[in-house]
Amino acid sequence: MPQSASENQQQLTTGGAGRAFHALAADEVAKLFSSPPTGLDESEAAGRRSEVGANELAQAPPPSRVWLFLAQFRSAVVWLLIFAAIIAGALGEWIDTAAILAIVLVNGVLGFLQEDKSRRALEALEKLAAPLARVLRGGAWQTVAARELVPGDRIRLEAGDYVPADARLLDAARLGVQEAALTGESVPVEKNAEATLPEKTPLGDRRNMVYLGTTATSGKATAVVVATGMQTEMGCIAGLLSREVPQPTPLERRLEELGKILMAVCLVLVAVIFALQMWRGGDWMEVFLLSVSLAVAAVPEGLPAVVTLALALGLERMIRRNALVRKLPSVETLGSVTVICADKTGTLTRNEMTVREIVTSGRRYHVSGVGFDPRGKFYALREGQTPDDAELSALETVDPRSEPDLLDALSVAARCTTAQVNRPEQEGQPWSVIGDPTEAALVVAHLKADSSATGGTRDVVHEIPFDSDRKAMSVVVRTRDAQRMLTKGAPEVILALSTHEQIGGQECELTPRRREELLESGADMARRAMRVLALAARTFPASYTGPYREEQLTLVGLIGMIDPPREEAKMAVARCQRAGIRAVMITGDHPATAAAIARQLRIDANGHVVTGQQLDEMSDDQLTDEADAISVYARVSAEHKQRIVHALKRRGQVVAMTGDGVNDAPAVSAADIGIAMGMTGTDVTKAASDMVLVDDNFASIVNAVEEGRGIFDNIQKVVQYLLSTNAGEVLAMFIAALVGWPAPLLPIHLLWINLITDGLPALTLGMERPESGIMSRPPRPPREPVITRARGTRIALYGVLFATSITLAFAYVRWYQGGSIESARTVAFCVACYAQMLFAFGCRSDKKTFLGLGPLSNLNMSVAICVSGTLQLGTVMWPLGRSIFQTTAVTAEQWVFIGVVSLFPITVVELAKLLARGPARAQ
Ligand code: ATP
Repeated sequence: MPQSASENQQQLTTGGAGRAFHALAADEVAKLFSSPPTGLDESEAAGRRSEVGANELAQAPPPSRVWLFLAQFRSAVVWLLIFAAIIAGALGEWIDTAAILAIVLVNGVLGFLQEDKSRRALEALEKLAAPLARVLRGGAWQTVAARELVPGDRIRLEAGDYVPADARLLDAARLGVQEAALTGESVPVEKNAEATLPEKTPLGDRRNMVYLGTTATSGKATAVVVATGMQTEMGCIAGLLSREVPQPTPLERRLEELGKILMAVCLVLVAVIFALQMWRGGDWMEVFLLSVSLAVAAVPEGLPAVVTLALALGLERMIRRNALVRKLPSVETLGSVTVICADKTGTLTRNEMTVREIVTSGRRYHVSGVGFDPRGKFYALREGQTPDDAELSALETVDPRSEPDLLDALSVAARCTTAQVNRPEQEGQPWSVIGDPTEAALVVAHLKADSSATGGTRDVVHEIPFDSDRKAMSVVVRTRDAQRMLTKGAPEVILALSTHEQIGGQECELTPRRREELLESGADMARRAMRVLALAARTFPASYTGPYREEQLTLVGLIGMIDPPREEAKMAVARCQRAGIRAVMITGDHPATAAAIARQLRIDANGHVVTGQQLDEMSDDQLTDEADAISVYARVSAEHKQRIVHALKRRGQVVAMTGDGVNDAPAVSAADIGIAMGMTGTDVTKAASDMVLVDDNFASIVNAVEEGRGIFDNIQKVVQYLLSTNAGEVLAMFIAALVGWPAPLLPIHLLWINLITDGLPALTLGMERPESGIMSRPPRPPREPVITRARGTRIALYGVLFATSITLAFAYVRWYQGGSIESARTVAFCVACYAQMLFAFGCRSDKKTFLGLGPLSNLNMSVAICVSGTLQLGTVMWPLGRSIFQTTAVTAEQWVFIGVVSLFPITVVELAKLLARGPARAQ
C-alpha cells in the first residue's frame, strides 16, 4: 500500500484509527511515518506535536471558577441567612440586612478561596501522577510524559506498562497484552511483531498492534506509534472523557454525619431559646433574627472546607517528602498503619549493586571498586578467605585477561542484560545507569576486566525476559559459528537447570556433590549480605531456529554483589519501632541475604526467615497464627505477598505493602495502603496503589505515616476548636434565656464571631505541622471516631469555659458597673471574640503547651490572629463599626477586664496540660 508524501502528511494529522497498519510489515509502517531506527529527533517530534496536538484524550472542561464561587451559596445555612436578611429588610432594618448580606458574601469568598486552593493542589498532584512512556529520540532512550508522544515515535514496552498510544510492533519478546478495556476480552493476548494480517482482521485479533488504554502483562517489545490522542481507537470509542467527580472520603462522610447531628441538637436548643424569649415577651423580629444567627453560629459550616484544605495541604507536604497519595481516604488510613511490608531491594537497600565476588570452577575472586564506576581490580582468594578492603594489599592481584573462565563468566553476565552504563559527561561526576541496577553491576564488572566490553543487546537472536517468579533470564546471541544461550538467575534455579559445569573451557558433568558445593558457595556469599546470581550457557547450532529452552545448561560461575542498606532506612525502622509499627521485609532474594540485611537494619527477625517454599507448605490459618511473629520473608513470589497481606489483616493489623512488578498489583490493592514504587514500579501497580513512593525509599513511607498522623490530628484539632467555641456561644445564649436576661450577644455579633474565628484561625490550625512526638505514640485505632469520648468531654468543658467568660463579661458591666445593655454586650462581644482567638493557640496540641511548642512555630496562625484581632478592634473603635455592630466605646478598665477574661479559657486549658503531665516534666 504505497503512499505519497502528502498522504503521509495526512496520515499524521488524521491519525491511524481505522487504517490497516496491521496489514503492513513493521518496517513499511516505520517508513510510512518517516521513523528512522534512531527514533525521531526532538525538533521533528515538536513539529509533529504542533500538527496533531498532545497525546491525550480530551476531557470535559473543569467547572469554571464562577461556578465554584456560586456553589458556595448552596448551603441551607446561607439560604437561612438570606431569608433573615430579607425579613430584616422588609421590616426596615437596613443595617442588619446589609450586614448579614456582607457576611454571607465574605463567607462565600473565603469558602471559594479555600476550595480553589485545595482544587489546585489536588490538580497538581494529579499531574504528577500522569502516565509516562519510554521513547527513542535522537538515538537515546528517554522517559517522557505520555502526552508528548507523536506518530512515528518509537516506544518501548515492558510487563506492567500502560500502552501509551496506538502502535505497530517492531519486535516483541513474549509480549502479552491485556486488552479488556478495548475489546472486553479479559485474557491477555500474545502479540507477534512478525505477523502481517489481512486488512479486515478485527481489533481483538490484530496481534501485531498495541492500543492505547491496554496494558502489557508480560514480556517486552518496541513499537512505532501510529496514532495518538483522540485519533486512537480508544479516542474514537470513548469520545469525551467525563471528569471524575471526587467522592467524599470516609472521614468527610463521618464529619458530614457529625454535622447533621450537631445541627439537630442546635435546632432543638435554638427552638427552646426562641420559645423562652417569646414567652418572656420579646419582640418577634429580634427573637427571630437571634435564633437564625444562633443556628448559623452553632453549625460549624466551615468544617468541610477546612478539612479538605487540611487534606490538600497535607498531601502537598507529603509530596515534598516523596510520597504521592493517589487516593484521599488513604491519608486517614496512613495514621493507623501497624505493619509496613516492604521489598528489600531498592526500598530498604540502596539498589547500587557492586559485584564483589566471582566463583568459577577452579577459583574464587574478589573485585574491588565502588558503585557503578568501572575502575577496580581482581584478586584471587584462597579457601575460606573473605577480605575487607584493608586486607586487599595482602592479596594476589590477577589479570582477568589471563583467566579464561573468569572472563567468560563476566562476558555471560554482562551480555545477558539490557542495562546500559554511561560514562559521566564531566570528570568527577558519577557513572549513570539505565535499566536494572543488578544488570548494570554486571556490565560494570565486565568493564573492569575489559574496558572495550559493551554488554547488552548486540547480536541477540532471542530473549526470554527476567521474571521475578521464574527468577531467571536468558538471551540467545550469535557467535562466529553457532548460537549461544546465556542464562543468569537465582543459584538454586540455574543449578537445577544445569547438567554440566565449565572447567578450563571444557564442559564437564555436574556431579551432585559439586552441585552441593556450588550451592554452599552461593549461600556463603548470601550470608555475607550479597545478592547472588548463577551464570550458565548452552550452545545451539548456527542454523537452529528454536524453541530455545532453559535446560541442559552448563554452569559458568557464580557472582555475588553487594547492595548496602540505606542509612535512612535503618533510622526509619527504628522510628517505626518507636511508633508501634512493625517493619516486615519481603524479598525475592536468598533467605541468607535477607537475614543479613535484616540484621544490619535491625529489623527484629531473631534470624527467623520464612521462605516462599515454607509458605507453600503452610495453610492460611497457620500463616495467620504466625504472621505477627514473622518479620522477614525471602524467595517469595507475588502470590505469597497477597497471602501475607490477608493473613496480617485477619490478625487485625492495618497493613501497608509495597510492590513494583505487574504481578504485585493484587497484593498492593489488597493492602490497606498499597504502595507502588515510583522509579521501578510498573504503571499497573501504580494504578492499583493508594500511594506512590517517588524515591522508592522505605524512609519515605515512614515520613508519609507521620504526615498522615499529622493530618488526622489537625482535623481533630479543628473540629475541637470549632465545636468548643460554637458550643460556648450557644450555651451563653441559652443561660441568658433561661435566667431571663437579655441576649448577651446580638445576631450580628454572632455572625461576625463566626466569620472571623471560624475563618482564618481555624484554617491555620489545619496547617499545623505534625507534632514532634507524633511518632512516639502507638497507631490510632482504625475505627476510632473523630470525636473520641475524651475529646467530646473536653469540647463540652471548653464550651462551658467560653459560656462562663461571655456571661461573666455581660453580668460584670451590666450589674457590677451598672452599664447599659449595649455596653455590656460590647464587652461580652469582645470577650467572645478574643477568648476564641486565643483559644486557637491552645488547640495546637493536646499535650504540649503553647509556649512549649514555640509561640511563633505556626506563624500563619499568629498572623491570622493579629488580623482577626485588629478587625475586631474596628467593631468597637471605628465609628462606622460601632454603628453597624451597635457597640459602645470601651473604657480602659473594661479593656483590662476584656484582656483578663479572654485569657481565662486558654489559661485553664494550658494549666490542665501542665497538670496532666506532672510537675517534673512541665515546661
Ligand atoms: P525485592 O523483592 O526485595 O525487590 P529482589 O529484587 O531480590 O528482591 P526479584 O527482583 O524478584 O527480587 O529477584 C529475585 C531473584 O531473581 C534474585 O534474588 C536474583 O537471584 C534473581 N534476579 C534478580 N534480577 C535478575 C536479573 N536481572 N536476571 C536474572 N536473575 C535475576
